[in-house]
Amino acid sequence: MQKEEDQQLFEKSIRFLGKSLGATELSFSNIEVLTAEKRMGYSRCITIFIRLSQGVLDQIKYEPTQTYFSHYRTVNRLIDDITLRLSLFLEDRGYPSLAIPASQSVADPNDAFTGAFQHKTGAVLSGEGWIGRSALFIHRNYGPRVRLGTVLTNAPLTVGVPTTRSECGTCRACVTACPAMAIEGQLWELGLPRNALYDAYSCSQHMKDAYKHIGRGAVCGLCMVACPVGKE
Ligand code: SF4
Ligand code: SF4
Repeated sequence: MQKEEDQQLFEKSIRFLGKSLGATELSFSNIEVLTAEKRMGYSRCITIFIRLSQGVLDQIKYEPTQTYFSHYRTVNRLIDDITLRLSLFLEDRGYPSLAIPASQSVADPNDAFTGAFQHKTGAVLSGEGWIGRSALFIHRNYGPRVRLGTVLTNAPLTVGVPTTRSECGTCRACVTACPAMAIEGQLWELGLPRNALYDAYSCSQHMKDAYKHIGRGAVCGLCMVACPVGKE
């Protein structure tokens, strides 16, 4: 009983720290279903979710805005700050931990646009949402209008139940909205590779060609604002 209470207190302190630093939500998942290489030897994943500003997103009509571009980068900095502090908090308590950068591409012969550990993987395994036709993570409460961060750890955590199927139903709003025709329109299920859902190269190239005036590496976001999930 005492052990159970200590565990609850420990998890509460992680959630409290994350939220007090600016995370909208936190979730925990078991990543032992992945290869040891993919999960870098860790067994648990903490995913943090940061809701994007509605005021900023409301300005996106036919193309991204400079304000959105700046917001995207600001949120990434906030994510890196929160995940670093969470990982240090866990290490101070004796649990090996690793904060994954919010936005980072690593050399992968199969996917030039992938990170060291995909934030979406932890989010899906925690059961907080699914992967949309757009290949974006769709949070049950906020839709795709969230950015994700990850801490890998060996701390004992009570984990969520993984999502295994898409809940997009018959909706195709993001497919229609994409100016690069990069979204294939398929429904996701657990294990489906990202490139079966969307063409990351076409998406990136369109952003470079069409939105150079907005900023280097600008993100479009039209598939995100088109999604009805989580809209009030
Ligand atoms: S970010 Fe823009 S170009 Fe890329 S998939 Fe979404 S709508 Fe298409
Ligand atoms: S816009 Fe529709 S199809 Fe696309 S991710 Fe959202 S719910 Fe799924």
